[in-house]
Amino acid sequence: MSLELFNDLTRKKEKFVPLKPGEVSFYSCGPTVYDYFHVGNARPFIVFDVLRRYLEHLGYKVTFVQNFTDIDDKMIHRAHKEKITVPELAERFIAEYNKDADALGIRRPTFAPRATEHIPEIIHTIERIIANGHAYVSNGDVYFDVRSWENYGSLCKQNIEDLEAGARVEPGEKKRDPLDFVLWKAEKPGEPSWESPWGKGRPGWHIECSAMSSKYLGDNIDIHSGGVDLMFPHHENEAAQSEAASGSGKPFVNFWLHNGFLLIDNEKMAKSLGNFVTARAAIEKFPPIAIRFFMLSAHYRSPLNFTTEALEQSASGVSRLRNCRSDLEFAFKTRTGENANFDMNAYKNNLAELDTKFHAAMDDDFNTAAALGVLFELVHLINTSLKENAILPAEFFESSLNALRVYDDILGVIGCEDSETETDAETLEIENLIQERTQARKNKNFARSDEIRNELKSRGIILEDTPQGTKWKRELQ
Ligand code: AMP
Ligand code: ZN
Repeated sequence: MSLELFNDLTRKKEKFVPLKPGEVSFYSCGPTVYDYFHVGNARPFIVFDVLRRYLEHLGYKVTFVQNFTDIDDKMIHRAHKEKITVPELAERFIAEYNKDADALGIRRPTFAPRATEHIPEIIHTIERIIANGHAYVSNGDVYFDVRSWENYGSLCKQNIEDLEAGARVEPGEKKRDPLDFVLWKAEKPGEPSWESPWGKGRPGWHIECSAMSSKYLGDNIDIHSGGVDLMFPHHENEAAQSEAASGSGKPFVNFWLHNGFLLIDNEKMAKSLGNFVTARAAIEKFPPIAIRFFMLSAHYRSPLNFTTEALEQSASGVSRLRNCRSDLEFAFKTRTGENANFDMNAYKNNLAELDTKFHAAMDDDFNTAAALGVLFELVHLINTSLKENAILPAEFFESSLNALRVYDDILGVIGCEDSETETDAETLEIENLIQERTQARKNKNFARSDEIRNELKSRGIILEDTPQGTKWKRELQ
Protein backbone atom coordinates (compact mmCIF):
# COMPACT_ATOMS: atom_id res chain seq x y z
CA MET A 1 0.00 0.00 0.00
CA SER A 2 1.06 3.60 -0.34
CA LEU A 3 0.16 6.75 1.55
CA GLU A 4 -3.36 8.06 1.06
CA LEU A 5 -4.56 11.37 2.46
CA PHE A 6 -8.08 12.74 2.76
CA ASN A 7 -8.07 15.78 0.49
CA ASP A 8 -10.63 18.43 1.45
CA LEU A 9 -10.53 19.78 -2.10
CA THR A 10 -12.12 16.60 -3.48
CA ARG A 11 -13.56 15.33 -0.17
CA LYS A 12 -11.94 11.97 -0.93
CA LYS A 13 -9.00 9.90 0.18
CA GLU A 14 -6.39 10.12 -2.56
CA LYS A 15 -3.03 8.50 -3.18
CA PHE A 16 -0.33 10.98 -2.23
CA VAL A 17 1.88 11.77 -5.20
CA PRO A 18 4.22 14.74 -4.73
CA LEU A 19 4.78 17.36 -7.43
CA LYS A 20 8.52 16.61 -7.47
CA PRO A 21 9.54 12.98 -6.96
CA GLY A 22 11.13 12.45 -3.56
CA GLU A 23 10.29 15.92 -2.23
CA VAL A 24 7.36 17.36 -0.31
CA SER A 25 6.42 21.01 0.07
CA PHE A 26 4.22 21.42 3.13
CA TYR A 27 2.75 24.63 4.62
CA SER A 28 0.86 24.68 7.91
CA CYS A 29 -0.82 27.80 9.29
CA GLY A 30 0.85 28.81 12.54
CA PRO A 31 -0.17 30.79 15.62
CA THR A 32 -0.98 34.45 16.09
CA VAL A 33 1.57 35.32 18.74
CA TYR A 34 -0.42 37.60 21.04
CA ASP A 35 -0.74 35.11 23.91
CA TYR A 36 0.10 31.56 25.00
CA PHE A 37 -1.45 28.99 22.68
CA HIS A 38 -4.16 26.69 24.02
CA VAL A 39 -4.54 22.93 23.86
CA GLY A 40 -6.95 23.27 20.89
CA ASN A 41 -4.25 25.09 18.91
CA ALA A 42 -1.78 22.38 19.93
CA ARG A 43 -3.79 19.77 18.03
CA PRO A 44 -2.79 20.85 14.50
CA PHE A 45 0.77 21.53 15.62
CA ILE A 46 1.11 17.97 16.96
CA VAL A 47 -0.81 15.99 14.32
CA PHE A 48 0.85 17.68 11.36
CA ASP A 49 4.25 17.27 13.04
CA VAL A 50 3.52 13.53 12.93
CA LEU A 51 2.56 13.66 9.25
CA ARG A 52 5.78 15.51 8.51
CA ARG A 53 7.81 12.91 10.46
CA TYR A 54 6.03 10.07 8.65
CA LEU A 55 6.78 11.61 5.24
CA GLU A 56 10.43 11.86 6.30
CA HIS A 57 10.33 8.24 7.47
CA LEU A 58 9.07 7.28 3.98
CA GLY A 59 12.22 8.90 2.59
CA TYR A 60 10.86 12.22 1.30
CA LYS A 61 12.85 15.40 1.69
CA VAL A 62 10.23 17.55 3.38
CA THR A 63 10.31 21.34 3.44
CA PHE A 64 7.92 22.26 6.22
CA VAL A 65 6.87 25.88 6.68
CA GLN A 66 4.82 27.16 9.60
CA ASN A 67 4.34 30.91 9.92
CA PHE A 68 4.00 33.26 12.88
CA THR A 69 1.22 35.85 12.46
CA ASP A 70 2.84 38.79 14.22
CA ILE A 71 0.61 41.67 13.07
CA ASP A 72 -3.18 41.88 13.31
CA ASP A 73 -5.90 43.51 15.46
CA LYS A 74 -5.36 41.09 18.35
CA MET A 75 -1.61 41.81 18.38
CA ILE A 76 -2.23 45.57 18.36
CA HIS A 77 -4.82 45.41 21.19
CA ARG A 78 -2.71 43.21 23.42
CA ALA A 79 0.47 45.28 22.91
CA HIS A 80 -1.51 48.39 23.75
CA LYS A 81 -2.89 46.76 26.90
CA GLU A 82 0.58 45.61 28.00
CA LYS A 83 2.06 49.03 27.13
CA ILE A 84 4.72 47.44 24.91
CA THR A 85 5.32 47.57 21.16
CA VAL A 86 3.88 44.98 18.76
CA PRO A 87 7.39 43.61 17.93
CA GLU A 88 8.14 43.25 21.67
CA LEU A 89 4.90 41.33 22.14
CA ALA A 90 5.69 39.08 19.16
CA GLU A 91 9.22 38.39 20.41
CA ARG A 92 7.88 37.36 23.80
CA PHE A 93 5.18 35.00 22.55
CA ILE A 94 7.31 33.46 19.80
CA ALA A 95 9.74 32.47 22.56
CA GLU A 96 6.85 31.11 24.66
CA TYR A 97 5.48 29.23 21.64
CA ASN A 98 8.86 27.60 21.02
CA LYS A 99 9.16 26.62 24.67
CA ASP A 100 5.79 24.83 24.76
CA ALA A 101 6.14 23.35 21.27
CA ASP A 102 9.58 21.94 22.17
CA ALA A 103 8.15 20.42 25.36
CA LEU A 104 5.41 18.76 23.29
CA GLY A 105 8.02 17.19 21.02
CA ILE A 106 6.99 19.29 18.00
CA ARG A 107 10.02 19.51 15.74
CA ARG A 108 10.98 23.00 14.58
CA PRO A 109 9.82 23.77 11.01
CA THR A 110 12.33 24.10 8.18
CA PHE A 111 11.22 27.75 7.97
CA ALA A 112 9.17 29.71 10.53
CA PRO A 113 8.62 33.03 8.73
CA ARG A 114 7.02 36.07 10.36
CA ALA A 115 4.56 38.27 8.47
CA THR A 116 6.30 41.55 9.40
CA GLU A 117 9.59 40.29 7.98
CA HIS A 118 7.94 39.69 4.58
CA ILE A 119 6.28 43.01 3.79
CA PRO A 120 8.06 43.35 0.38
CA GLU A 121 6.92 39.83 -0.63
CA ILE A 122 3.37 40.61 0.54
CA ILE A 123 3.31 43.86 -1.47
CA HIS A 124 4.68 42.04 -4.50
CA THR A 125 1.94 39.36 -4.25
CA ILE A 126 -0.76 42.05 -4.04
CA GLU A 127 0.74 43.80 -7.07
CA ARG A 128 0.57 40.55 -9.05
CA ILE A 129 -3.11 40.10 -8.11
CA ILE A 130 -3.95 43.69 -9.14
CA ALA A 131 -2.04 43.28 -12.41
CA ASN A 132 -4.03 40.12 -13.19
CA GLY A 133 -7.29 42.01 -12.64
CA HIS A 134 -8.49 40.42 -9.41
CA ALA A 135 -8.00 43.20 -6.85
CA TYR A 136 -8.73 46.91 -6.64
CA VAL A 137 -7.58 49.90 -4.60
CA SER A 138 -10.10 51.87 -2.59
CA ASN A 139 -8.98 54.85 -0.47
CA GLY A 140 -5.65 53.32 0.51
CA ASP A 141 -7.14 49.83 1.12
CA VAL A 142 -6.73 47.01 -1.40
CA TYR A 143 -9.50 44.40 -1.76
CA PHE A 144 -9.70 41.08 -3.54
CA ASP A 145 -12.50 41.15 -6.13
CA VAL A 146 -14.26 37.88 -5.29
CA ARG A 147 -16.79 38.11 -8.14
CA SER A 148 -13.89 38.13 -10.61
CA TRP A 149 -12.70 34.76 -9.31
CA GLU A 150 -14.71 31.95 -10.79
CA ASN A 151 -13.33 29.24 -8.52
CA TYR A 152 -14.27 31.04 -5.32
CA GLY A 153 -16.02 28.59 -2.95
CA SER A 154 -14.42 25.49 -4.50
CA LEU A 155 -12.64 24.49 -1.27
CA CYS A 156 -15.50 25.12 1.18
CA LYS A 157 -18.01 23.78 -1.39
CA GLN A 158 -20.41 26.70 -1.23
CA ASN A 159 -21.69 28.83 -4.04
CA ILE A 160 -21.17 32.57 -4.21
CA GLU A 161 -24.85 33.38 -3.51
CA ASP A 162 -24.88 31.40 -0.25
CA LEU A 163 -21.59 32.93 0.83
CA GLU A 164 -22.87 36.40 -0.08
CA ALA A 165 -25.83 35.93 2.26
CA GLY A 166 -23.46 35.43 5.21
CA ALA A 167 -21.03 38.25 4.30
CA ARG A 168 -20.89 41.54 6.16
CA VAL A 169 -19.23 44.91 5.66
CA GLU A 170 -17.39 46.03 8.77
CA PRO A 171 -17.54 49.69 9.76
CA GLY A 172 -14.87 51.68 7.90
CA GLU A 173 -14.52 49.17 5.05
CA LYS A 174 -14.75 50.61 1.56
CA LYS A 175 -15.36 47.58 -0.61
CA ARG A 176 -17.52 47.08 -3.69
CA ASP A 177 -19.07 43.82 -2.58
CA PRO A 178 -19.60 42.38 0.92
CA LEU A 179 -17.72 39.19 -0.09
CA ASP A 180 -14.54 41.06 -1.07
CA PHE A 181 -11.79 40.74 1.49
CA VAL A 182 -8.92 43.03 2.40
CA LEU A 183 -5.37 42.47 1.15
CA TRP A 184 -3.91 45.74 2.42
CA LYS A 185 -5.35 48.05 5.10
CA ALA A 186 -4.72 51.80 5.03
CA GLU A 187 -2.88 53.16 8.08
CA LYS A 188 -4.86 54.01 11.20
CA PRO A 189 -3.46 56.44 13.80
CA GLY A 190 -1.35 54.76 16.47
CA GLU A 191 -1.01 51.46 14.57
CA PRO A 192 2.16 50.01 13.02
CA SER A 193 2.39 50.66 9.29
CA TRP A 194 4.67 50.20 6.28
CA GLU A 195 5.15 52.13 3.04
CA SER A 196 3.40 50.68 0.00
CA PRO A 197 2.39 51.73 -3.54
CA TRP A 198 -1.09 52.44 -2.07
CA GLY A 199 0.13 54.57 0.83
CA LYS A 200 1.10 53.60 4.36
CA GLY A 201 -0.68 50.61 5.83
CA ARG A 202 -0.44 46.98 6.88
CA PRO A 203 -1.26 43.60 5.35
CA GLY A 204 -4.59 41.80 5.81
CA TRP A 205 -4.40 38.39 7.48
CA HIS A 206 -4.83 35.96 4.56
CA ILE A 207 -2.23 37.47 2.24
CA GLU A 208 0.76 36.65 4.47
CA CYS A 209 0.30 32.89 3.98
CA SER A 210 0.07 33.25 0.18
CA ALA A 211 3.20 35.42 0.07
CA MET A 212 5.32 33.33 2.43
CA SER A 213 4.19 30.01 0.98
CA SER A 214 5.21 31.21 -2.48
CA LYS A 215 8.57 32.52 -1.23
CA TYR A 216 9.65 29.33 0.55
CA LEU A 217 7.83 26.65 -1.46
CA GLY A 218 6.89 28.10 -4.86
CA ASP A 219 3.48 28.88 -6.38
CA ASN A 220 2.25 25.25 -6.32
CA ILE A 221 2.68 23.10 -3.26
CA ASP A 222 1.90 19.56 -2.16
CA ILE A 223 0.20 19.95 1.22
CA HIS A 224 -1.41 22.80 3.16
CA SER A 225 -2.91 22.18 6.58
CA GLY A 226 -4.66 23.79 9.54
CA GLY A 227 -7.70 23.44 11.77
CA VAL A 228 -11.08 22.94 10.10
CA ASP A 229 -12.13 26.47 11.13
CA LEU A 230 -9.49 27.80 8.73
CA MET A 231 -11.12 26.21 5.68
CA PHE A 232 -13.37 29.21 5.28
CA PRO A 233 -12.59 32.03 4.87
CA HIS A 234 -8.81 31.76 5.45
CA HIS A 235 -7.89 28.90 3.14
CA GLU A 236 -10.52 29.73 0.54
CA ASN A 237 -9.02 33.23 0.39
CA GLU A 238 -5.45 31.98 0.33
CA ALA A 239 -6.25 29.73 -2.65
CA ALA A 240 -7.98 32.59 -4.52
CA GLN A 241 -5.08 34.99 -3.83
CA SER A 242 -2.28 32.58 -4.71
CA GLU A 243 -3.91 31.35 -7.90
CA ALA A 244 -4.90 34.89 -8.93
CA ALA A 245 -1.31 36.05 -8.31
CA SER A 246 0.37 33.25 -10.26
CA GLY A 247 -2.15 33.37 -13.13
CA SER A 248 -0.86 29.97 -14.27
CA GLY A 249 -4.20 28.14 -13.93
CA LYS A 250 -2.43 25.56 -11.75
CA PRO A 251 -3.78 24.81 -8.26
CA PHE A 252 -2.03 26.54 -5.36
CA VAL A 253 -2.31 23.38 -3.24
CA ASN A 254 -2.71 19.72 -4.24
CA PHE A 255 -3.77 18.39 -0.84
CA TRP A 256 -5.76 20.46 1.67
CA LEU A 257 -5.80 18.81 5.11
CA HIS A 258 -7.85 19.96 8.11
CA ASN A 259 -7.89 18.62 11.65
CA GLY A 260 -11.11 18.34 13.66
CA PHE A 261 -11.77 20.36 16.78
CA LEU A 262 -10.46 19.71 20.21
CA LEU A 263 -13.49 19.95 22.49
CA ILE A 264 -13.91 20.67 26.16
CA ASP A 265 -17.23 19.70 27.72
CA ASN A 266 -18.23 18.80 24.16
CA GLU A 267 -17.78 22.35 22.91
CA LYS A 268 -14.98 23.72 20.70
CA MET A 269 -12.08 24.95 22.81
CA ALA A 270 -11.66 28.59 21.83
CA LYS A 271 -10.25 31.84 23.14
CA SER A 272 -13.50 33.61 22.29
CA LEU A 273 -15.59 31.14 24.34
CA GLY A 274 -13.29 31.48 27.35
CA ASN A 275 -13.26 27.67 27.81
CA PHE A 276 -9.61 27.17 26.96
CA VAL A 277 -6.68 25.61 28.81
CA THR A 278 -3.30 26.94 27.71
CA ALA A 279 -0.73 24.38 26.62
CA ARG A 280 1.49 25.85 29.35
CA ALA A 281 -1.09 25.10 32.07
CA ALA A 282 -1.70 21.61 30.68
CA ILE A 283 2.06 20.89 30.63
CA GLU A 284 2.27 21.90 34.29
CA LYS A 285 -0.49 19.43 35.15
CA PHE A 286 0.24 16.48 32.85
CA PRO A 287 3.48 15.10 31.34
CA PRO A 288 3.82 16.80 27.90
CA ILE A 289 4.42 13.43 26.27
CA ALA A 290 1.01 12.29 27.62
CA ILE A 291 -0.62 15.34 26.00
CA ARG A 292 1.01 14.33 22.73
CA PHE A 293 -0.18 10.73 23.15
CA PHE A 294 -3.69 12.02 23.85
CA MET A 295 -3.73 14.05 20.60
CA LEU A 296 -2.69 10.98 18.63
CA SER A 297 -5.23 8.70 20.32
CA ALA A 298 -7.97 9.79 17.89
CA HIS A 299 -7.98 10.17 14.12
CA TYR A 300 -6.91 13.76 13.35
CA ARG A 301 -10.15 14.57 11.50
CA SER A 302 -12.45 13.42 14.33
CA PRO A 303 -13.47 15.63 17.23
CA LEU A 304 -11.59 14.90 20.45
CA ASN A 305 -12.75 15.71 23.97
CA PHE A 306 -10.20 17.06 26.48
CA THR A 307 -10.84 15.51 29.91
CA THR A 308 -8.72 14.75 32.95
CA GLU A 309 -9.56 11.03 32.64
CA ALA A 310 -8.43 10.94 29.00
CA LEU A 311 -5.16 12.64 29.93
CA GLU A 312 -4.61 10.25 32.84
CA GLN A 313 -5.25 7.27 30.56
CA SER A 314 -2.78 8.72 28.07
CA ALA A 315 -0.17 9.09 30.82
CA SER A 316 -0.61 5.44 31.76
CA GLY A 317 -0.35 4.48 28.08
CA VAL A 318 2.98 6.31 27.87
CA SER A 319 4.18 4.60 31.08
CA ARG A 320 3.36 1.19 29.62
CA LEU A 321 5.42 1.99 26.51
CA ARG A 322 8.31 3.40 28.52
CA ASN A 323 8.34 0.51 30.97
CA CYS A 324 8.53 -1.91 28.10
CA ARG A 325 11.53 -0.07 26.72
CA SER A 326 13.34 0.12 30.08
CA ASP A 327 12.57 -3.55 30.87
CA LEU A 328 14.07 -4.44 27.52
CA GLU A 329 17.17 -2.36 28.15
CA PHE A 330 17.63 -3.87 31.59
CA ALA A 331 17.11 -7.43 30.38
CA PHE A 332 19.53 -6.79 27.49
CA LYS A 333 22.26 -6.16 30.09
CA THR A 334 21.38 -9.02 32.42
CA ARG A 335 19.67 -11.78 30.42
CA THR A 336 21.39 -12.09 27.05
CA GLY A 337 22.49 -15.51 25.82
CA GLU A 338 21.76 -18.59 23.72
CA ASN A 339 18.26 -20.02 24.07
CA ALA A 340 17.46 -23.14 22.02
CA ASN A 341 13.76 -22.89 22.93
CA PHE A 342 13.33 -19.41 21.52
CA ASP A 343 12.45 -19.25 17.83
CA MET A 344 14.14 -16.09 16.62
CA ASN A 345 12.85 -16.50 13.06
CA ALA A 346 9.25 -16.75 14.21
CA TYR A 347 9.79 -13.65 16.37
CA LYS A 348 11.22 -11.75 13.41
CA ASN A 349 8.20 -12.74 11.33
CA ASN A 350 5.93 -11.39 14.06
CA LEU A 351 7.84 -8.09 14.05
CA ALA A 352 7.57 -7.90 10.26
CA GLU A 353 3.81 -8.48 10.42
CA LEU A 354 3.42 -5.71 12.98
CA ASP A 355 5.55 -3.45 10.80
CA THR A 356 3.21 -4.03 7.86
CA LYS A 357 0.24 -3.25 10.10
CA PHE A 358 1.88 -0.08 11.42
CA HIS A 359 2.53 1.20 7.91
CA ALA A 360 -0.97 0.24 6.76
CA ALA A 361 -2.40 2.35 9.62
CA MET A 362 -0.21 5.34 8.82
CA ASP A 363 -0.78 5.01 5.08
CA ASP A 364 -4.51 5.22 5.74
CA ASP A 365 -4.70 9.02 6.11
CA PHE A 366 -2.12 8.79 8.95
CA ASN A 367 -4.42 6.99 11.32
CA THR A 368 -2.36 7.52 14.47
CA ALA A 369 -5.00 5.88 16.70
CA ALA A 370 -4.60 2.62 14.80
CA ALA A 371 -0.80 3.04 14.75
CA LEU A 372 -0.80 3.37 18.56
CA GLY A 373 -2.84 0.15 18.69
CA VAL A 374 -0.07 -1.63 16.76
CA LEU A 375 2.52 -0.21 19.15
CA PHE A 376 0.65 -1.83 22.05
CA GLU A 377 0.54 -5.14 20.18
CA LEU A 378 4.31 -4.87 19.90
CA VAL A 379 4.59 -4.17 23.64
CA HIS A 380 2.47 -7.24 24.35
CA LEU A 381 4.70 -9.38 22.13
CA ILE A 382 7.87 -8.09 23.82
CA ASN A 383 6.48 -8.48 27.34
CA THR A 384 5.30 -12.03 26.67
CA SER A 385 8.71 -13.02 25.29
CA LEU A 386 10.46 -11.49 28.31
CA LYS A 387 8.11 -13.31 30.69
CA GLU A 388 8.39 -16.70 29.06
CA ASN A 389 12.16 -16.76 28.61
CA ALA A 390 14.87 -16.37 31.26
CA ILE A 391 17.54 -15.80 28.58
CA LEU A 392 17.13 -14.32 25.10
CA PRO A 393 19.49 -13.79 22.17
CA ALA A 394 21.05 -10.37 21.60
CA GLU A 395 19.21 -10.19 18.28
CA PHE A 396 15.88 -10.32 20.13
CA PHE A 397 16.81 -7.21 22.11
CA GLU A 398 18.33 -5.34 19.19
CA SER A 399 15.40 -5.92 16.86
CA SER A 400 12.78 -5.09 19.52
CA LEU A 401 14.53 -1.91 20.66
CA ASN A 402 14.99 -0.90 17.05
CA ALA A 403 11.26 -1.33 16.31
CA LEU A 404 10.35 0.83 19.31
CA ARG A 405 12.85 3.49 18.21
CA VAL A 406 11.56 3.62 14.62
CA TYR A 407 7.92 4.03 15.70
CA ASP A 408 8.86 6.55 18.33
CA ASP A 409 10.74 8.58 15.76
CA ILE A 410 7.39 9.03 13.98
CA LEU A 411 4.94 9.33 16.86
CA GLY A 412 7.19 10.69 19.65
CA VAL A 413 5.23 9.03 22.46
CA ILE A 414 7.92 6.93 24.16
CA GLY A 415 10.77 9.37 24.53
CA CYS A 416 13.55 7.24 23.00
CA GLU A 417 15.26 10.50 22.04
CA ASP A 418 15.44 11.55 25.71
CA SER A 419 16.97 8.26 26.78
CA GLU A 420 19.63 8.51 24.10
CA THR A 421 20.65 11.94 25.35
CA GLU A 422 20.96 10.84 28.97
CA THR A 423 24.61 11.13 29.81
CA ASP A 424 26.52 7.93 30.31
CA ALA A 425 28.11 9.49 33.39
CA GLU A 426 24.72 9.90 35.01
CA THR A 427 23.66 6.34 34.18
CA LEU A 428 26.93 5.04 35.61
CA GLU A 429 26.41 7.01 38.80
CA ILE A 430 22.87 5.62 39.21
CA GLU A 431 24.07 2.08 38.64
CA ASN A 432 26.92 2.51 41.14
CA LEU A 433 24.45 3.71 43.76
CA ILE A 434 22.22 0.72 43.06
CA GLN A 435 25.18 -1.63 43.51
CA GLU A 436 26.07 0.07 46.77
CA ARG A 437 22.45 -0.36 47.91
CA THR A 438 22.47 -4.07 47.00
CA GLN A 439 25.65 -4.51 49.06
CA ALA A 440 24.15 -2.54 51.98
CA ARG A 441 21.09 -4.79 51.94
CA LYS A 442 23.29 -7.88 51.98
CA ASN A 443 25.06 -6.41 55.02
CA LYS A 444 21.65 -5.65 56.59
CA ASN A 445 22.53 -1.96 56.59
CA PHE A 446 18.92 -0.93 55.88
CA ALA A 447 19.47 2.68 56.92
CA ARG A 448 21.98 3.15 54.07
CA SER A 449 19.86 1.19 51.58
CA ASP A 450 16.81 3.37 52.35
CA GLU A 451 18.92 6.48 52.12
CA ILE A 452 20.04 5.53 48.61
CA ARG A 453 16.49 4.66 47.52
CA ASN A 454 15.29 8.06 48.80
CA GLU A 455 18.11 9.97 47.20
CA LEU A 456 17.36 8.37 43.83
CA LYS A 457 13.63 8.97 44.29
CA SER A 458 14.27 12.67 44.85
CA ARG A 459 16.04 12.65 41.47
CA GLY A 460 13.03 11.03 39.80
CA ILE A 461 14.53 7.51 39.68
CA ILE A 462 12.24 4.69 40.78
CA LEU A 463 13.70 1.34 41.91
CA GLU A 464 12.04 -2.01 41.62
CA ASP A 465 13.52 -5.13 43.23
CA THR A 466 13.00 -8.25 41.10
CA PRO A 467 14.35 -11.82 41.27
CA GLN A 468 16.78 -10.84 38.49
CA GLY A 469 18.10 -7.82 40.42
CA THR A 470 17.15 -4.20 40.97
CA LYS A 471 15.61 -2.39 37.98
CA TRP A 472 15.33 1.35 37.67
CA LYS A 473 13.30 3.76 35.60
CA ARG A 474 12.65 7.46 35.39
CA GLU A 475 9.40 8.96 36.57
CA LEU A 476 7.38 10.64 33.81
CA GLN A 477 8.12 14.34 33.68
P1 AMP B 1 -5.15 30.59 15.56
O1 AMP B 1 -3.93 31.06 16.34
O2 AMP B 1 -6.45 30.92 16.21
O3 AMP B 1 -5.10 30.99 14.10
O4 AMP B 1 -5.11 28.99 15.58
C1 AMP B 1 -3.97 28.22 15.27
C2 AMP B 1 -4.42 26.86 14.79
O5 AMP B 1 -5.22 26.18 15.78
C3 AMP B 1 -5.30 26.90 13.54
O6 AMP B 1 -4.91 25.85 12.67
C4 AMP B 1 -6.70 26.64 14.09
O7 AMP B 1 -7.54 26.08 13.12
C5 AMP B 1 -6.40 25.66 15.20
N1 AMP B 1 -7.44 25.57 16.24
C6 AMP B 1 -7.98 26.57 16.96
N2 AMP B 1 -8.88 26.10 17.87
C7 AMP B 1 -8.90 24.73 17.72
C8 AMP B 1 -9.59 23.65 18.38
N3 AMP B 1 -10.44 23.87 19.39
N4 AMP B 1 -9.35 22.40 17.97
C9 AMP B 1 -8.47 22.15 16.97
N5 AMP B 1 -7.78 23.10 16.31
C10 AMP B 1 -7.98 24.40 16.68
ZN1 ZN C 1 -2.65 30.64 6.81
